[in-house]
Amino acid sequence: MIERLFMQIPWYYMYLITVLYFTIAYFSVAGLAVLLLKRLLVAKSANKISAKGASQTQVRLEIKRSFISILVFGFFGVVPQQAYLHHWVDINWAISPYILPLELLAIFVWNDVHFYICHRLLHVKWLFKHVHYTHHEAHVPTPWSAYSFHWFEATLLSTVMISAMLIHSFCYVSLLFLPMISLILNVLGHWDYDLYPQKSHDFLFRFSYRHSLHHRRVKGNYGFFLPFLDNIFNTTLSSNK
Ligand SMILES: [Zn+2]
Ligand SMILES: [Zn+2]
Repeated sequence: MIERLFMQIPWYYMYLITVLYFTIAYFSVAGLAVLLLKRLLVAKSANKISAKGASQTQVRLEIKRSFISILVFGFFGVVPQQAYLHHWVDINWAISPYILPLELLAIFVWNDVHFYICHRLLHVKWLFKHVHYTHHEAHVPTPWSAYSFHWFEATLLSTVMISAMLIHSFCYVSLLFLPMISLILNVLGHWDYDLYPQKSHDFLFRFSYRHSLHHRRVKGNYGFFLPFLDNIFNTTLSSNK
């Protein structure tokens, strides 16, 4: 049934459904993070990474820019649909309890590898000056920074799903998992709150700290959740100075 729906729905409805999905997901996940952050800060303000918070003007601008990114992300649904209809990619419509966990792991790692490649590219002088500076206007990130991109950066980042589909025929559940896990990590990576300040820099769940450092120093720590590519390519920022 899902396969038939995916094949028969006109591309413009697919676009509208995807935009609606991203809008609801963005406001729900970022909104929830803001609420949770307020409680956490009351309990332990020492875990706040930056001394100063973001201004209301910054938050308003981030939400406006995020909505433009969401309009680009509408093609997240359309591109795989059209690629599938033209037989350029395949989708597995059956759920295998043995293969699914492996696929989820592969998608999770690919999300980070793809981000690292795009992010390093975005720090090339011309692209930084004309595109990525938009995201870096937030010296202190907030959960609303998650989708605050220039439209070109949003387009580049949105290739994460179709590039994975060109390599392997993923189960549709793995493909649906990708934008949701990416959003959750993105929101938490920008909330400027370090849950584990006593742990080492490379501790996986210190990704918010690592990305806040990237916003402050505007170089290094190009990975997101996984620090291994920064370690391999010697782009790790290790101290909060
Ligand atoms: Zn950057
Ligand atoms: Zn960021």
